Order: sequence, then structure tokens, then C-alpha cells
Amino acid sequence: MTLRTLENLSVTGHRVFVRVDFNVPHEKGSTQVSDDTRIREALPTLRYLMEKKAKIIVASHMGRPKGADLEESLAEVGARLSELLQTEVLFPEDCIGDGVKKLAHELREGQILLLENLRFHPEEEANDPQFAQALAGLADIYVTDAFGALHRAHASTVGMAKHFKEKGIGFLVQKEVEFLDRLLHRSERPFFLILGGAKISDKIGVIESLLSKVDGLFLGGGLGLTFLKASGAQVGKSKAEDEKLYLAQKIFQRAKGQSLPVFLPTDHRVIAEDKIRADAVSKIVYRIGPDEKALDIGPETVRDYASRLAQAKTIFWNGPLGVFEYPAFAEGTYAVARAVADSGAFSVVGGGESVMAVKKSGVAERISHLSTGGGASLEYLEGKKLPGLAVLEN
Ligand code: ADP
Ligand code: MG
Repeated sequence: MTLRTLENLSVTGHRVFVRVDFNVPHEKGSTQVSDDTRIREALPTLRYLMEKKAKIIVASHMGRPKGADLEESLAEVGARLSELLQTEVLFPEDCIGDGVKKLAHELREGQILLLENLRFHPEEEANDPQFAQALAGLADIYVTDAFGALHRAHASTVGMAKHFKEKGIGFLVQKEVEFLDRLLHRSERPFFLILGGAKISDKIGVIESLLSKVDGLFLGGGLGLTFLKASGAQVGKSKAEDEKLYLAQKIFQRAKGQSLPVFLPTDHRVIAEDKIRADAVSKIVYRIGPDEKALDIGPETVRDYASRLAQAKTIFWNGPLGVFEYPAFAEGTYAVARAVADSGAFSVVGGGESVMAVKKSGVAERISHLSTGGGASLEYLEGKKLPGLAVLEN
């Protein structure tokens, strides 16, 4: 890789701007952090910089505020960060301006400054050159550890990076890139791809890019229902993207052309009512009736997928295979998670909901890598150059 890693930058005594992804979940109407995973993931980079006596300026976006909206403030994130690092975290009320600049320039070695939400300024998402320059003026060295934001060309991910000669990636980004590169370039066969989730349109790029690298495609979830419908099966009232059936047909054809096996669910857990409820009456069927809605893959599909996945040497999985948010429709996803873990394959799970589902399934420790990047992970696997990485190449 032509990217410089943190260990290849001389950071001691220098002001280092670290773009992180602290866009943590928080309850509506509160800024209390309800899951601090993303903060914890940045700790190795921040601890390293503290040990090396850098002057550390940390920045992130949060939510989609329209201007300075205190409901999307990073204040609570700063408090949690301070707890986790057991050190004081300076927190100004903005991310640019004279006050912030003064704080940044007065930082002591090993000290940390967390800027307020970058998106309080619309210039961040607009990648405004002046805003980018103002951010760049805060530091001598630029480091990104915000893997989940690298597919977006914003001021803090791309615009400002251009102003630095000394720049590179933090430990989280380094880990993501290493795991995803192994999938793309050094995967042991057989390599199986499991795809589910909501929409085929979100995943078509990654399917197309990985199709020539994999030895089997296992489908489920809403996306699987679109494929089922495209194959001629009835899916009743299930979620299927009617206007996207042609995409599924295109994939079937390519798979056929390269003799790639494509596995579709053979049985389904369905409900016969419109609204999904936790206590809805459900049953297992082989054919989905006209008034039925499929919300999970059935036990026969699970057994079939599990026995095939046991042969895998490499697995990439994106997209839950059912509406796992409801325990009644989570079993297919959890059982496949166990099968992936049991296979002993080099396994990577990507996607926000997918990672959440695997964590809930209790086997997360036995998955090689949970890729937290969401859209960025998928774009990376599509072979697209992430703007936030491209700008760091020397
Ligand atoms: P990820 O975030 O892992 O990329 P997606 O966002 O594509 O995954 O999809 C996740 C969503 O797909 C989940 O919220 C889940 O409820 C939904 N889903 C899975 N199976 C079905 C189904 N059969 N019908 C409707 N929605 C489904
Ligand atoms: Mg999602």
C-alpha cells in the first residue's frame, strides 16, 4: 500500500489533526452516548499519539444537523473520551475560528483537543476550500482514522488533507484496509459471498465486483426476495424491488456464464398480516402465498447454507437474512452467523445492521473481522478508490 501508516510519521511535538468517526448512536432528543464502540475504536490511535507526545486535535461529524444544533453536539462524546483515556479533553464550542486556533496552538505535548461537530458548518459537506484551509491551519500533520467517512469527499476527509505534506492513516483504517485487501487480493478458495439486507440497489456494485472472485453466492433477506422473484417464484407481499428485477436477472446470467452456484432460500418464515409486530403469528412455508410476507429464511435453508458454508476458506457477508430486529425473525441470521463462525474460514462481516446482528448472535469473537465502515467498506470492495484514501497517497 502506498499509504503511510501512523508509525511512519514523526509525530512527537507536532500538532496532529485526527479525523475520526465519532458519529455514535444517541437517543433522540439527548446527546447521551448509547453505544461508544466508535469512540473505543479510535483509542489505539489516540493512545499512541499521546505516548508519542503529539499535540492532538480530534475532529468528527455527528448526525445531519442544519447549522449549529446542540442536539448533535459532540460534548458528551468528549466526556466519554475523557473517561476512556483517563485524561482531560479540551472541548471548544466550534471547530474553526480564532478561539479554536489559539487552543490548538497552545496545546501541550500529549494533550487532546476535540473539536465541535464539523457539520455545524455546511462548508464541511460542501468541501468548501476556505473551510478546508482553516481546518488545515490547525495542525502540521493529518491523520485519518474515520474509515466510515472515507467514501465522502468532505472538507475534513479530502479538502484539508491536500494542504499537508505529512499525512497518513490511523490504526483503525490500517486494520480495515488490511482485512479488505486480503479479501480482495489474497482470499483462499473456496470463497463464499453471503448477501442479504434491504435492497439490491445498495449492493449491486459489490456483487458485480466480487462475482468473478467467489465460488458461491448465498442470498437472503429483502435482497434475496428480489432475486427469488426474478427467478420466477411468487413472493406475495414480501419486500421485493419490482423495478430492480433486471439487476437480479443480470447477476443470474453472469453467474450462469461462469458456472457460479447461486443459492436462494427454499423455505421462509412468513406472516399473513401487513404490519410487522414482535408477536405476529408466523409459520414456515416452501411457497409464499399471495397474502404472505417473508421475514426470515427458514430452517431448511439454514441447514443447507450451513453445510455448504462449512467448506469455506473465505467468507464475506453483508446484509441480514431476515428482519433480525424482531427476535421472531432473527433465527435465520443468527444461525448463519454461527455457521460462519464454525466454518473456521477467514470471515469478514460488513454493514451497519449486519455487524449489529452478528454481535447479537453471540459469535462476534469468532468472526475474523467486523468491518464498521458500512458504505465505505462496500465501496472499497467494489474496487472504487475511496476519496479519503486517494488524497493520502504519495
Ligand atoms: P447492512 O446495514 O448490514 O448493510 P442493510 O441496511 O442492507 O444491511 O439491510 C438491513 C435491513 O434489512 C435490516 O434492518 C432488516 O430488517 C432488513 N431485512 C432483512 N430481511 C428482510 C426481509 N425479508 N424483509 C424486509 N426487510 C428485511
Ligand atoms: Mg444498513
